Amino acid sequence: MRIDVLTLFPEMFHGILGTSILKRAATDRDDRPAPVEYHLTNVRDHTTDRHGKVDQSPYGGGPGMVMQCQPIWDAVAAVEASDARPARRLYMSPQGRRLDQALVEQLAGEPRLLILAGHYEGVDERVLERLQPMDEVSIGDYVVSGGELPAMVLIDAVVRLLPGALGDDASVEDESFSGSNDRRLDYPHYTRPPVWMGAEVPPVLLSGNHAEIDRWRKEQSEARTRKRRPDLLAEEEGK
Ligand code: SAM
Repeated sequence: MRIDVLTLFPEMFHGILGTSILKRAATDRDDRPAPVEYHLTNVRDHTTDRHGKVDQSPYGGGPGMVMQCQPIWDAVAAVEASDARPARRLYMSPQGRRLDQALVEQLAGEPRLLILAGHYEGVDERVLERLQPMDEVSIGDYVVSGGELPAMVLIDAVVRLLPGALGDDASVEDESFSGSNDRRLDYPHYTRPPVWMGAEVPPVLLSGNHAEIDRWRKEQSEARTRKRRPDLLAEEEGK
């Protein structure tokens, strides 16, 4: 997969994309090419303004600045022309479809994502209309200062699903919200020591009986979901 990010602050991504799983996923190994490549584009590099401006005050008045159409339009055109793979265009926006695991799983099947991160008051509406089809994606019903953190959340959630991104691909199975777990919450996890501050690990997990362990985990997953997120079970039962 190729992921392009268009942002005014590419440096914000260096720490996240250069660390741990996201870094490893973009590193070639002897036995396989990297599951993902990241390309960061500074929208400012595409402005035709002599002073490098990319934003202006809003028509109609009001606070803040609005990102202008031209630099974004030209940045998207240049980035898309640099690789023949068609890009699924995404604009990170609090007004978009709420990101969930079903959407993450869908995006993980795309050959290429192009993610636009807004800043300031947002982006001139006309360029968003001209860039259709473009999905607006929100990370939740709250507003952060820019699309960079939301883009990083989306990238992390998608990349860890790519085959070969994690040490063991099975790690992403049966996680909370995953399709393979019927969108339920994960079961509780335990590790050594068997007794810690008087609290014991559930004996079934030490029994070696894998059929029993699977059954216990399934029950725990369902009980947790019923208690903490009954809405998930309601959705499933309503199908
Ligand atoms: N004026 C906009 C509104 O009220 O809908 C908010 C603009 S916000 C300060 C600046 C940028 O941050 C947005 O263009 C978007 O890219 C990003 N952003 C903020 N909150 C977000 C969220 N919950 N999900 C995704 N992107 C978000």
